[in-house]
Amino acid sequence: MSINPDSLIMYTPDFIKQFRAQFPFYQNQTDKPISSVYLDNAATTHICQPALDAINHYYQFEHANVHRSSHPLAIGASNQFEAVRQQTAHWLNAIDKNEIVWTKGATEAANLIAHGLSKVHIKAGDEVIISLAEHHAHFVTWQQLAKYYNFNLKVVSLTQDLQIDLAHLSHLINPKTKAIAFCHVSNATGVIQPVDAILQLIKPHKQIVSIIDGSQAVNHIPINIQALNCDFYFFSAHKMHAGTGLGVCYGKQSWLNALPPYQFGGEMVKHVSLDDTQFNQLPFKFEAGTPNISAVIAFGATLKFLTQFQWQKIKVYENELMAYLLNELEQRKSINLLADDHLVGAVSFTVKDMHCKDASDILSQMGVALRAGSHCAMPLIQAICPQGSLRVSICGYTSVEDINYFLFCIDELNEFL
Ligand code: PMP
Repeated sequence: MSINPDSLIMYTPDFIKQFRAQFPFYQNQTDKPISSVYLDNAATTHICQPALDAINHYYQFEHANVHRSSHPLAIGASNQFEAVRQQTAHWLNAIDKNEIVWTKGATEAANLIAHGLSKVHIKAGDEVIISLAEHHAHFVTWQQLAKYYNFNLKVVSLTQDLQIDLAHLSHLINPKTKAIAFCHVSNATGVIQPVDAILQLIKPHKQIVSIIDGSQAVNHIPINIQALNCDFYFFSAHKMHAGTGLGVCYGKQSWLNALPPYQFGGEMVKHVSLDDTQFNQLPFKFEAGTPNISAVIAFGATLKFLTQFQWQKIKVYENELMAYLLNELEQRKSINLLADDHLVGAVSFTVKDMHCKDASDILSQMGVALRAGSHCAMPLIQAICPQGSLRVSICGYTSVEDINYFLFCIDELNEFL
């Protein structure tokens, strides 16, 4: 990454302070005994006040199940629930709200897609390509389904800068290739993957379904599904300031129509007889049982909040903060970065002569929350850094002071060496 030192920010701008003030975690900071410098945003982000308010309001005044009863409370809840689906489609620039399926998280979305494709699209002896950079949610799901259904999993390797190797990918593709599953941004390294180039490469191969895990991208990069033109894209709402227990699974209508339901139960049916069941239309076919209604409503409040706060402006600040952090880390001889280019949101590194778990324990004691180990991406970490790494991950509310304190603590680690 080329950095102009004059452009590096040295203080937190006021609009970021105002944004941060909207997160209850940062209120009454002095009362917090530990982990007040929160740099584990790739694991989960803090929830914003509007999302919390929406959850409270829903449970206090609007609570009813959706798409079932016809009393006013139930109709109100259903309308709100569907309005957020529309809002989400709009946020992602998807064509139709029925392309948005609610799941309980990115993991469930990965499973829904992979299980469905394994049943209707991939035959024994076919091939699926997965990248070495995948989170276990993607990697283990495809690995286990390949064993179960007897298809072959091909792992596409990474270049030196930890991006998916396009030359290797093109070498792997053949008429048996039925799907490719890859992340938009790696959770273990923070490296942005060349998604457009990958999608371009597979375009002539009409049988290949593209599945993108956007979990680490959605809070940092604007997503334009129509421009991307992938078949599936999924993420968890808790990675972008909403609550846990909600995932967004985008799928092209043609593919969602082709896939069988992932789970069976109430609401995903149109008609049930003693012998058989007619399934409901999209997206309800994939939403068996009572959904996480309050999380959906909170997600809607979050999207509105991010729009009002000029998300794009916050992203510019975030990129500058990342450049500052990288520049500082690069100057420290005790630090070895796993990747130093194409980064967004997170940077992964090792500390010379110190195990990552020891370093994270000491940093935790100093009040810095980050992640150490293999980051739910064991195949990748085993290949590039078997002893594990430390990952510091930022987002819009991270202040320059947070980063400066973290850097101070990194320097203090030398005392323990
Ligand atoms: N994919 C990636 C890239 C992730 O970072 C995560 C969460 N760490 C997941 C999938 C799984 O998300 P969840 O646990 O919310 O289902």
